[in-house]
Amino acid sequence: MRTVAIVGASLGGLRTAQELRSQGYDGRVVLVGEEAHRPYDRPPLSKAFLAGTADREALDLLEPDDDRELDVDYRLGVRAEHLDPANGRVLLSDGSELLADGVVIATGGRARPLPGTEGVAGVHTLRTVDDALRLRDELTSGSPRVVIVGAGFIGAEVASTCRTLGLDVTVLEALETPLAPILGAELGAACARLHGDHGTRLLCGATVDGLNTVADGPHGVRVTGVRLANGDEIPADVVLIGIGMIPATEWLAGSGLTVGNGVHTDSGLVAGPSTVVAVGDVARYASVSTGRHVRHEHWTNASEQAGVAVANLLAGHTVRHYVPSGYVWSDQYSVTIQIAGHPAPSDEVVFVEGSTEARTFVATFQRDGETVAVFAMNNAKLFNRLRRQAIRRPAPAA
Ligand SMILES: Cc1cc2nc3c(=O)[nH]c(=O)nc-3n(C[C@H](O)[C@H](O)[C@H](O)COP(=O)(O)OP(=O)(O)OC[C@H]3O[C@@H](n4cnc5c(N)ncnc54)[C@H](O)[C@@H]3O)c2cc1C
Repeated sequence: MRTVAIVGASLGGLRTAQELRSQGYDGRVVLVGEEAHRPYDRPPLSKAFLAGTADREALDLLEPDDDRELDVDYRLGVRAEHLDPANGRVLLSDGSELLADGVVIATGGRARPLPGTEGVAGVHTLRTVDDALRLRDELTSGSPRVVIVGAGFIGAEVASTCRTLGLDVTVLEALETPLAPILGAELGAACARLHGDHGTRLLCGATVDGLNTVADGPHGVRVTGVRLANGDEIPADVVLIGIGMIPATEWLAGSGLTVGNGVHTDSGLVAGPSTVVAVGDVARYASVSTGRHVRHEHWTNASEQAGVAVANLLAGHTVRHYVPSGYVWSDQYSVTIQIAGHPAPSDEVVFVEGSTEARTFVATFQRDGETVAVFAMNNAKLFNRLRRQAIRRPAPAA
């Protein structure tokens, strides 16, 4: 293998380049990225970077010295527009084409827009550093009233950051209990209570019907409020849409790869031909324990997958299977939430230490008499111990 093209110059793409080198590959590595930036970290975008307490350099995933070791040929500010896997051809938006013996799909995803809100001034989504800079500009101009649509982790983190900036914040959540489809009602409610503790208004069961706007310049409109399906109107100067992401697979249309809510791969992240692998938020891999295709949208997952994908790419067939640790964290208000394993809302939640009232606790998720996940709020020490000792690793499907 002489050339590997990695499409997507973010966490998954960079970790793959690093794994290629550490697993002994000494050929050419081309890293193609639609954003003009070198690989940077997204978690601070909703936290310290948005608050203005971390600067741009703090986001960088590479130290200047790393470049010599990695020896990567960057193609930044260029989008991949088509993949021909049989011939290892990647067509780029600048009209050029790349020929590669191996292709890594690491294109992550884009923030999911709320239909009817695109192009309205004051309405934001948050996925990139440029999104974060635009949002920060508006949050720090005067004292805008902020409405956040969606009480998932990113919505909750932005709400928390807005409160540290002293802003008036309302979070709208369509579910009766935020996060309940993942964590179950009891732990979802424990997360939801953090909003009220810190002066954020959380409205659950709230469906957005549309925006109220005023004319803004000759052609545009600016948001003044959010209308709910029950007829209520919430005044807003800034709105963040935090309703998830859409995997970036449009460039794979016509490639012959199986695409649908991500790129389908086998349990070793191989996407059909043995010369194409996928990693990170875009990879929808066959779970080794259930055989079902699953996708994760977490930092640790993108990092962990790179080693497996590279081993299989270099071997020319699947020699390693991906078994995720399922580690996720979120910093909101005064707490750090940590999850490891694979919780389901139907699992029994058993409190090991602390209580939801104290906002400091560790709980396990029990299924068929075994611990399948650990959840902690502000108790990293016990969380890490249980994470190492208690969680059952998924067994390969028969
Ligand atoms: C605001 C925010 C906060 C987060 N906080 C946490 C957290 O606290 N904890 C946690 O576990 N996870 C967090 N995450 C999730 C974590 O950042 C992602 O799981 C991780 O970034 C996934 O990396 P990736 O490389 O797979 O995809 P991405 O980071 O999405 O990168 C994909 C890259 O590919 C590029 N691309 C897309 N299409 C093309 C194309 N056709 N051609 C070329 N380039 C293309 C994109 O522009 C992008 O740069 C957060 C995410 C966000 C957005």
